[in-house]
Amino acid sequence: MTNVVGLTCVICGTTYPADFAGYVCPDHGNEGILDVRYDYDKIGETFTKESLAANPDRTMWRYRPLLPIADDAEVPPLTVGGTPMYDAAPLAADLGLAKVWVKDEGREPTASLKDRASAMAVVKAQERGAEVVTTASTGNAAAALSGISASVGQKNVIFVPASAPEAKIAQLLAYGSTVALVNGNYGDAFDLCMEASAAYGWYNRNTGYNPFMTEGKKTAGLEILEDLGWEAPDAIFVSVGDGSIIGGVHKAMKDAFALGWIDRMPRIFGIQSAGSDYLVQAFENGEDVLTKPPIAADTVADSISADLPRDRIKAMAAVTETGGTYLRVSDDEILAAIPTLARGSGVFAEPAGATPYAGLVAAVERGLVGADDTVVLLATGSGLKDVASALKAVAAVGTSPMRIDPTLDSLRAALNN
Ligand SMILES: *Cc1c(COP(=O)(O)O)cnc(C)c1O
Ligand SMILES: [Zn+2]
Repeated sequence: MTNVVGLTCVICGTTYPADFAGYVCPDHGNEGILDVRYDYDKIGETFTKESLAANPDRTMWRYRPLLPIADDAEVPPLTVGGTPMYDAAPLAADLGLAKVWVKDEGREPTASLKDRASAMAVVKAQERGAEVVTTASTGNAAAALSGISASVGQKNVIFVPASAPEAKIAQLLAYGSTVALVNGNYGDAFDLCMEASAAYGWYNRNTGYNPFMTEGKKTAGLEILEDLGWEAPDAIFVSVGDGSIIGGVHKAMKDAFALGWIDRMPRIFGIQSAGSDYLVQAFENGEDVLTKPPIAADTVADSISADLPRDRIKAMAAVTETGGTYLRVSDDEILAAIPTLARGSGVFAEPAGATPYAGLVAAVERGLVGADDTVVLLATGSGLKDVASALKAVAAVGTSPMRIDPTLDSLRAALNN
């Protein structure tokens, strides 16, 4: 039994039954992404803030009544979710804000927020008796699917651009996935994965296609609210590639609001690199994301490099329905955010994980957030995922190590005292 009442097409609003076996609306093809609908009245009868507080399970599965899986479905053994959120007082002071919270998704088992979606994918794949599960990814979704699959012995085939950061590729190989390094970009890997999954009948985890991925990702948003005592923050900053994470954060807020657990919605800010700013363009120009053609994305933040954000309809709604904004930041600002975030919070993030901080700086400059505001930054992935970018980032702010001989004299000379 689940609490799902149906799956609704984001384009035409047609609702398909809870046990619908497809991925997207048959009338709208790959654009017709489905949104999972729940029976909140029924959920609220037994699932309360109090029952939740009494639950010792700190993983994402503590929100199971709000997830599209059966009450008794087995879940993978890796600890997904329950990541810490830190009060980053130095950052708040620097920016003149009431509070800045940093949620550290680098603490997930494969070191990015994608574990929440991939754990969901593995549960759904096993529910359907799939022999193989597959995904295309810029790297993190793949590493997540790879690691969670390994934890339950699920066969999987991964498609990533050959240019993915080394650490992410190393993860895939260590976990024993069948790995295809595609000569092309994420869009090419995505299209091939779609074809292969149809040809071989593999369970498809692709972002912005499989409707359950956002449901897994929303648990990060639920944790944010629970950590804040179900008091919504004023603003949440999220980096955006395909737009599935920001859609998930929005879904969490809508779930909590529907249950009466929060009494207002936070503003959601979507941050993109200037080199991959499809949604910023659409937001600024009032363009319809259903007809706006792909762009040619190129950014140091590989995790948010997307020619055509796959989950763009939900991603746009997350911002427009909450009074937020889409903002673009340069790659230099993204790189600079890595050491600033690390030094002001202790959280070391990959470029896409530090991007929300760069967005916050831009939002403060524009007066979009101010002195009374409580802000949450979603640091989506660990800095260890992309050491080359981290080294570039510290060099750019003039940080270099002392090169010394193993003597106290040499240290004294280097320290100048
Ligand atoms: C995937 C990812 C994002 C972007 O998520 P989307 O759902 O594609 O918008 C941001 N940061 C990190 C670290 C990621 O892995
Ligand atoms: Zn439809």
